[in-house]
Amino acid sequence: MSLPPNRLQLYLADTDVRAVYDNVRRHRIIISGYDVTRRCNLRCEGCFFFEGDRADGYADDVDLEAYRRFFRAERERGITYPHLAGAEPALVQDRLRAAAESFDQGLVYTNGTLPIDPDLPFMLHISVWGNRETDRKYRGADVLGKALELYGGDDRAIFMYTMNHGNIDHLPEIVRMVHDAGSRISFSHYSPTRLYNRKLAGTDERRTRTFRISTAQDNLCLNDLDLDRARRVADEMMAGFPDTVVYSPYYNETVSAPGPLFAIDAQTGMATDCPILNKPYHRQYHTDLSWDDSECCIPNVDCRSCRHYVSVYSLVMDRMRDHLASRQSFVRWLDVVDTWLALHVRGYRRSRILLREAA
Ligand code: SF4
Ligand code: SF4
Repeated sequence: MSLPPNRLQLYLADTDVRAVYDNVRRHRIIISGYDVTRRCNLRCEGCFFFEGDRADGYADDVDLEAYRRFFRAERERGITYPHLAGAEPALVQDRLRAAAESFDQGLVYTNGTLPIDPDLPFMLHISVWGNRETDRKYRGADVLGKALELYGGDDRAIFMYTMNHGNIDHLPEIVRMVHDAGSRISFSHYSPTRLYNRKLAGTDERRTRTFRISTAQDNLCLNDLDLDRARRVADEMMAGFPDTVVYSPYYNETVSAPGPLFAIDAQTGMATDCPILNKPYHRQYHTDLSWDDSECCIPNVDCRSCRHYVSVYSLVMDRMRDHLASRQSFVRWLDVVDTWLALHVRGYRRSRILLREAA
């Protein structure tokens, strides 16, 4: 579609839209990913890290001084925002402190069961898989109860509820709990690993601690009906808890569309248009500080059913030009970027105007 060259300027003539646009541009962050440990105190069913061959098989004995030098070099490479992951980064806080010597912002992916040094400058995304009953079933412990005890009311924390086939109906209960604890919550969608899918299909029979209860008939994968239900429940939660739920209506619509969200190479099964894979600066480092440019931030995940929030937000955000056809389309796109920043920047306040218009 050819667009009048001044289409963007036309939308930005609105001072409210301009203010949000200028604000999100000010907060541009350059992200790369780091698995800082392969240890975890849990073994969750269908774990993206342990249920596969591309994350866990690396040495985990790099010394602290090497980590310091490494993070300094990453900052010099132009990275401004590390995604610190693992397995469980809270188990290696000396490495998080080494990262903090080079970065004044970043994000730690954690299961929320261990206290993380409040002096670290990072946001925390705390993985949530459901209520006490589903936590025991999928994760072997009351993970959310512990996380709320440790991080309720902590403004570093976003509780990240990963919706799966078996936990969508618990979402309202959990949003209420997080709201009552004075915290914020957002949503992700379960994205199976290639190994998990092979096991469900019966073409791989390895038994592991992260594949205990799933079967072809009863597993975590979201089908089209689940996606539709998840979209409706998330919409209701956004409307009912606007200060607690950090999520975007347009993102919700996009991530809930049936079928693969990415263009898939029929031979390799890999996404050809994944913005994480295609960004020249993004690398996913293993625990031995090696990396491979054929890997994204979640290298075991099957691209055909990938709905991981980092990849889907990146997909939408990279396509500003596709959202210039109308003011509404542009505002909805801008709201996704605004939401992404609220998930990443400590103290960031979302635009109320966009929240109203994007719904
Ligand atoms: S999903 Fe996260 S918390 Fe659970 S086993 Fe995997 S790394 Fe650990
Ligand atoms: S983030 Fe990209 S490369 Fe990784 S699984 Fe998802 S679509 Fe594939």
